[in-house]
Amino acid sequence: MPGKKLNPEELAEFDNQLRTMLAVLNGDIKNLESETFSENSRSNVSAEDVGSELSAVELSLDLLERDENTVREIMEALDRIPAGLFGVCSVCETQIKKTRLKYMPHARNCIECQRSAEENGDF
Ligand SMILES: [Zn+2]
Repeated sequence: MPGKKLNPEELAEFDNQLRTMLAVLNGDIKNLESETFSENSRSNVSAEDVGSELSAVELSLDLLERDENTVREIMEALDRIPAGLFGVCSVCETQIKKTRLKYMPHARNCIECQRSAEENGDF
């Protein structure tokens, strides 16, 4: 079952998350605290929402592989946001579930296609 289409607020969240990941990968972590989530603190997002978003980002930062391949995938994911293709599986073209994108916003395939690619050794 495909996930729901992302709304502009969700896309902005993922954009923010991807830029945070990119900053970490580029060793730009010193600038993070002032820039990350400053938008949220100005808006009317509840503390609870910000908290859950923060933990998702922290989790994805833990999972980051620090290599050039990941940097490229994150930059490609950022390009897909204005193109309207962010979160769309590159294989079957269904909407990737939000739960997967939270942990891996640079994912290019849905979980089903990712699994079959891994089973085929085509990963
Ligand atoms: Zn797919």
